[in-house]
This record gives sequence, structure tokens and C-alpha cells, in this order.
Amino acid sequence: MAAIGIQADENPHADGKRLYLCPAGVPEVHETARQLSHFGYATRLFDDLSGLLEGVRETPPAGVLMDCGALRRHPEMANQAVRAMAASIPLACMSNHGDIGSRLEAVRMGCRAYFTRPLDIASLLDTLDRLTAPPRAEAGKVLIVDDSPSLVAFYAAHLSDAGFVTQTVTDPMKTLDALADTSPELILLDMNMPGASGQELARVIRQQDAYLSIPIVFLSAESDVGRQREAMSTGGDEFLQKPIEPEHLISAVRSRVIRYRALRALMVRDSLTGLLNHTSFKERLRAEVARTKRLNKVLTVGMIDIDHFKQVNDSHGHPAGDRVIRNLSRLLKQRLRGADVIGRYGGEEFAIVLVDTAIEAAVGVVDHIRKSFAALEQQAGESVFRCTFSAGLAQSPPRMDADSLIQAADEALYQAKHDGRNRVRAAPSRAD
Ligand code: GH3
Ligand code: MG
Ligand code: MG
Repeated sequence: MAAIGIQADENPHADGKRLYLCPAGVPEVHETARQLSHFGYATRLFDDLSGLLEGVRETPPAGVLMDCGALRRHPEMANQAVRAMAASIPLACMSNHGDIGSRLEAVRMGCRAYFTRPLDIASLLDTLDRLTAPPRAEAGKVLIVDDSPSLVAFYAAHLSDAGFVTQTVTDPMKTLDALADTSPELILLDMNMPGASGQELARVIRQQDAYLSIPIVFLSAESDVGRQREAMSTGGDEFLQKPIEPEHLISAVRSRVIRYRALRALMVRDSLTGLLNHTSFKERLRAEVARTKRLNKVLTVGMIDIDHFKQVNDSHGHPAGDRVIRNLSRLLKQRLRGADVIGRYGGEEFAIVLVDTAIEAAVGVVDHIRKSFAALEQQAGESVFRCTFSAGLAQSPPRMDADSLIQAADEALYQAKHDGRNRVRAAPSRAD
């Protein structure tokens, strides 16, 4: 079997998502593999279709990218074996032709994505990221607030069986802490509780901008439709009458969570990069600072700004500049942990929160990303160029609120620029 293993030197993620490319003889395949390896793909090239199929049988990859010509040259193999492979592994195709006939042929072979040459690496990456993303483990995060421990346990058990992650609160006064801790995607709220009614709690929750859009589903034995409606007017989205059938509960929760996710994505994400926008980043930062304070932990905030970006636009054009921004955002997403927070703070400026991370460790992480970014080849038509960024970091404690953290990180960023750019600077450890 002819296979060429590619381990790009710059790619420290040898355990990255496995991606098979075929055939190796097609001109730009090696270059494509190299570019993809910068973004966490461990790529492997195969000379021909039979080699690829054997490789897939031995070690299934996260995805396969192949040239349409290779399929056409072996129609007998392509028809059966490729279709069987495509049933379990996402298959993307690249082709010289964009006509409907060629596309149809690829679809019938089981291809889930189709790229015409010249390949746009950014959109190739977007699609591969999407196709090879592990399915989201949980159906949704639900906070259940009810003073009856047995009812709470009953709802939680049924929702967990349906794949939801649940957090439960039997003391209504603990609701806000639970909200900040888990950022649920839906709240199930009992109406009648000692200490605070569901209606009152809904008002308290809705008074905070961060929780304006989270779905609230009331649970109550109340059967009077007028009173149900009145409860809804305080900011509830639905009213479920006790006793509640588990199937009814699950389907009501599921449809609300799906819609909430879609709406949130539009509201809080930047459209170019898919990162948190400025406002949502600051919201998350505030929540993380509060959590860090409560749990006596540390976090580090970073401000990252691309160096001489104006020149990039001037020399290579705005679309090339956009691609640089997307490349950096992708690198950040890939290198930081799931619990970390990443935002597009401004045009070519990014902000990050490394949770449970002291500034010394954070400097190491960001510096590693800085080196990778500087090594990355940016494309603008035929020409290739490189970019760098500068970063400033600040830790909490000593800084205990979002604004002073951002200001300190910004000052450190300014220092990094002043010291010559393409470097990471830490804010002094004292707040003053
Ligand atoms: P420095 O190293 O000091 O950061 O220099 P700079 O050129 O990066 O800084 P400056 O703030 O002067 O310029 C930022 C440029 O970024 C200006 C603006 O046109 C460009 N920019 C902002 N947002 C976008 C965007 O979404 N896409 C593109 N292509 N360019 C953008
Ligand atoms: Mg800049
Ligand atoms: Mg700037």
C-alpha cells in the first residue's frame, strides 16, 4: 500500500483530527495537506483509491478529501466501496468542474461537500471543521428549580435519559448562582415555592440582560388558563401543567433548546469568525470573573491584535485581510480549551479568557499560538505572505472586575507593540 505520512513540523497536534487525502499525485494536494496540518488535522496522503480504502479500513479517519477524477477513474470501486465508506465517514470532493452533472455524480457517491478549484483553504477548513465535528454530546443544559426534591429528581432523571445535562436547585434563592455557574440553555421553574414564587424569580432573571433570551418553562398545578397566561406575562415561554408526562416535558424542552441555540448563535456570534462578539465576550468575561472570585481561583485575560494589519489590506486587499482574521480565529479555537472564552473584540483585535490559568502558564500558551500564527502562510491569489500578532495578558486576582482586567491587558498589549510587535507581554502582577 502506498501511503505517505505527513507530519508537518509546525503542527504540534499529531493527535489532531485524522484526515485522509487522495490521490497524492494531484498537484496541490501536498500543499493543501500542509495548510490543513496547521489547523489541527493530522493528514495522510494516499496514491490511489484502493490504498485509501485500505487505509480507511485499518484506521478510520475523521474525514476524507478526494479528487473527483480519482472516483471517475475507478467507477466500479467508487460505486460500491466509496459509497460504503461515505456512509460512515464524511467525504468531501474537489473538482475542476462546477456543473450540476459533476456535482450530482459526487452526491450520488455520498460526498457531503464539493469544492471547485482553485481551492479556498478558508472555506475548505470551515466545511471540514463542520463535517468532522464530534456530535454535541448533550441535547441541552437545563436548570431545574423546584422545591420538591422528589419532583426535581423525577424531571432530572427523564431529561438525562433523553441526553440533557441537568442541574437542580431546590432552594429558589440559589437560582442566580446556579445560572452563573452552568449557563443553562433552558430553565424549568416551579410556580409555587416557599421563599420566592416562580413568577418573581422569572422577573429577577429577566432583569439581567444576559438572561433576557433564555427560555423559561413554568411548571405548575395551576389549571386556570387566565392565571397561566398572567404567569407567562412575567417572561415565561411556556407553561406545563403538573402532573407532567415525561414525553411532553422532553419534547417541550427539546424544541425550546433548539430554537434558543439558533437564536443565540445569531445574537452573540460574530459573522466573519463565529467567535463571540464584543458584547457577548464582555458578558462572559464578567460571569467568569464572578465564578473565579467565588471559587477562589485564577483566570487570565488576553488581548490580541494583528500587527500592521492595515498594510495587509493595502497590499493584498480586504478579502485577504478577512481570511487572515478567520485563520487567527480558527487557530485560537483549535488551541484553547473548550472552557476558555474567545471573542472578536474589534476589527483585527481578539480577546480571550483562559479559565483556571495563571498568567505564567497563559503566556506560554499564547506565545505558542503566536509562533504558529507567524509560521502560517496566508494566501492572496497567487501570492503568499505571513502575519504576526502582539498580545497583552492580565490575571485575576489581583484585578477583580472585567473592565480593569481588559484595561490591564490592553496596556500590556500596547507595551508589546511598543517593544517591537510579534510578542506577548504580561501586565505587572500588582493592580496599581
Ligand atoms: P498595529 O500593528 O499597530 O496594530 O497596526 P495595524 O495596522 O494593525 O493597526 P490599525 O489599528 O492602524 O489598523 C487596523 C486595520 O484593520 C484598519 C482596518 O481597515 C482593518 N480592519 C478592521 N476590521 C477589519 C476587517 O473585518 N477586515 C479587514 N480586512 N480589515 C479590517
Ligand atoms: Mg493591529
Ligand atoms: Mg487594532
